Amino acid sequence: METYIFNAAMLCEECATELMVELGNEGKPDTGDSDDYPQGPYPDGGGEADSPQHCDSCQMFLENSLTTDGENYVREALEEGNPITKAKVIWGAFYDLCVHLDKQPNAEQVAAVLEFKDAYEKSYPDWKGHLRDAWHQGWDDKAIGDGYNGNGYLLRQVRNRFGTAWLDTFNPNEGEAS
Ligand SMILES: [Zn+2]
Repeated sequence: METYIFNAAMLCEECATELMVELGNEGKPDTGDSDDYPQGPYPDGGGEADSPQHCDSCQMFLENSLTTDGENYVREALEEGNPITKAKVIWGAFYDLCVHLDKQPNAEQVAAVLEFKDAYEKSYPDWKGHLRDAWHQGWDDKAIGDGYNGNGYLLRQVRNRFGTAWLDTFNPNEGEAS
């Protein structure tokens, strides 16, 4: 997206055009200095940056490219999840980053965790600790059922998307009479 720079901030084309008309009406010329007059247009939302750029005036996302740091920044912001802002959703879709805005495992994934619990609880009363070991040591994907053909891949999904923070809070008896 074409972008202009004014006063050390980015402007979208529409806001920059509006401002140029305003400045023109005030008799202020284009001095070639971005402190006085919007300079541009620059392609690619002002170019590669360490974070997504937005118009300083209307907050429109400028669709700039990201550096590796920028990609990590967006990924972290999305993984953090909360709060899920409109900007995060727009970034995720635009950069096509692998993001999971759902904060809870689905029924299939929870079933796999319960399958793990049933399979190991007798030998390992601290089955959550055992699952953490499996995740850490990387044998979670063949930990339950029929080895690689079992549901272990679902455990891997839970690890990658929700992690130990979710496991710590997971109560398998929730909803059951105590
Ligand atoms: Zn704007």
